[in-house]
Amino acid sequence: MDKKTLDWDNLSFSYIKTDYNVRCYYRNGKWGEMEVSSSELIPIHMAATSLHYGQEAFEGLKAYRGKDGKVRIFRIEANNARLKSTCEATLMPALPDGLFHDMVVKVVQLNERFIPPYESGASLYIRPLLIGTGAQVGVHPAEEYLFVIFVTPVGAYFKEGFSATPYVVIRQYDRAAPLGMGTYKVGGNYAASLRANKMAHDMGYSCEFYLDAKEKKYIDECGAANFFGIKNNTYVTPLSTSILPSITNDSLQRVAADMGMKIERRQIPIEELTTFEEAGACGTAAVIAPIERIDDVEKGVSYVIAKDGKPGPVCKKLYETLRGIQYGDLEDKYGWVTVL
Ligand SMILES: *Cc1c(COP(=O)(O)O)cnc(C)c1O
Repeated sequence: MDKKTLDWDNLSFSYIKTDYNVRCYYRNGKWGEMEVSSSELIPIHMAATSLHYGQEAFEGLKAYRGKDGKVRIFRIEANNARLKSTCEATLMPALPDGLFHDMVVKVVQLNERFIPPYESGASLYIRPLLIGTGAQVGVHPAEEYLFVIFVTPVGAYFKEGFSATPYVVIRQYDRAAPLGMGTYKVGGNYAASLRANKMAHDMGYSCEFYLDAKEKKYIDECGAANFFGIKNNTYVTPLSTSILPSITNDSLQRVAADMGMKIERRQIPIEELTTFEEAGACGTAAVIAPIERIDDVEKGVSYVIAKDGKPGPVCKKLYETLRGIQYGDLEDKYGWVTVL
């Protein structure tokens, strides 16, 4: 697709072909050199461990074009560290120091013409993927791996302005077990979430809401995003062994603390939802998706958070601050941004 034909203001979150991706192969016990490819396909053995036994990890981050025309990539090192932890959990070889960073920068530079203009509020989504490519029939880790990063331009999450939406508690299905893979970014967690997500959408909600799998008492995740609530000048987010450590959530906690708020990471009983002044789901896609209400249909309870249906002032301030840092409108005092 040509840059002139891309409608930056109306991009959605779907795959658009770009010019290049970058790849690296692990063979004979070591990682090779970075390769640049213009093919969208990867040749793969039919007995590859990623296909049968889910030996795979992915990441998600973004590059933003600033008012000054410069390109900024948000928290590369945090994504690298999280991928490393997923590698340990899935018995995949970690990347050598610096390779993740170099490959992310390279793939963004190679596809420079696909980075949306500042005014559109759109961005370039970066998707690193690590998969077991070696053949196994028995359940063992592969001996060969492929690490690939592709990029695709994605639209502004809030097209009609920053707004709050309803969520629904799904009790029939669990996303992740207490001592399972919930803290790692693996595709299997998404396979486990598809039915709950479809149920929520079919009922007209923006997303499904998970309670802890063991007791069904505490707040876990909002679909594929972390939860936070705001009350009494405090930012409260769940402590759980099945939540993915969101880099957006971590960033919001730092920003909130610097705004003079207290931070609490602890179990949050679902009934506590009635006490929050504001709440949101957070992740790379939206930064913050404010929560209007959470319906627990099975129990016949509706926890209304945004009484006027609008995002609250704290969510708005946090959202604007983090977006400001990402787009280069505000000073990056945390050293989160790589400027190209
Ligand atoms: C990726 C992801 C998130 C959000 O993480 P960010 O680093 O903030 O993008 C939250 N929950 C799940 C399950 C995820 O996979």
